[in-house]
Amino acid sequence: ESFQDVDMGEIIMGNIALTRYTRPTPVQKYAIPIVKSKRDLMACAQTGSGKTAAFLLPILSQIYTHGPGEALNAENGKFGRRKQFPISLVLAPTRELALQIYDEARKFSYRSRVRPCVVYGGADIGQQIRELERGCHLLVATPGRLVDMMERGKIGLDYCNYLVLDEADRMLDMGFEPQIRRIVEQDTMPHKGSRQTMMFSATFPKEIQILARDFLEDYIFLAV
Ligand code: AMP
Repeated sequence: ESFQDVDMGEIIMGNIALTRYTRPTPVQKYAIPIVKSKRDLMACAQTGSGKTAAFLLPILSQIYTHGPGEALNAENGKFGRRKQFPISLVLAPTRELALQIYDEARKFSYRSRVRPCVVYGGADIGQQIRELERGCHLLVATPGRLVDMMERGKIGLDYCNYLVLDEADRMLDMGFEPQIRRIVEQDTMPHKGSRQTMMFSATFPKEIQILARDFLEDYIFLAV
C-alpha cells in the first residue's frame, strides 16, 4: 500500500512527500477513496489513527482538482468584502485539536492557492478576525467561536461544500450540540446531499447515530 494508489494530484503528492509519511494508516487507506468518490462518511477512529490526513488529503485534492469554484469569486479581498466564505469547514472540540488539524492543513496546502485558517475560543477574537480577513478557504473551528464569528458577520457558509465533524462524540460530551446544529442547520449552509459530510468519532452511541442520520446522506460506515 502507498499513497500512490489513489491519484490525489501533484500538489498533494508533493506535500505528502515533504511530510515523510511513507504509507497510509488504515483509516487513510479506507477513507481516502470513499471521500474521493464523493460519498458521505461516518468513521469510527481513535486519536492517533491518522484520521486528520484521512479527511484533509481527499478534500484538498478535490479542491485542487475541481477548483474552488464560486467560493473564490465570493472571496472578499478582490471585491472589498470582509466576509469569508470557506469551501471546507472542520469542526473540532478543543483548541488543541483545532490547532493540530490546522497545522496538518498548512502542510498539505503548501504551494497551493488554498488558505487554511483556525478559530477557537479563549483567545483574542480580533487577531483571529484579521487572519480571516486575509482569506480563508478551509476553516478549522471550535463550535462556540464559530457561532460568534457568524454572528459578527465574518463567516458565511454558503459555499461550504465539505463539512467535517471531528471527534463528534467529544463535541457532544462537551455540550456543543446546540452550536453544531446552529451552524450545520442554518439556511445558507448547503444542505446534506449537496455538500459532502464526514463525521469522525471514537464511539458510536445513540446520540452520534442521530447526528449521523440528521447530517449525513446515504453514508458509508467505516470502523477501523
Ligand atoms: P491524527 O490521528 O490525525 O491526530 O494523527 C496522529 C499522528 O500521526 C500525527 O502526528 C500525524 O502527523 C501522524 N501521521 C498521520 N498519518 C501518518 C502516516 N501515514 N504516516 C506517518 N505518520 C502519520
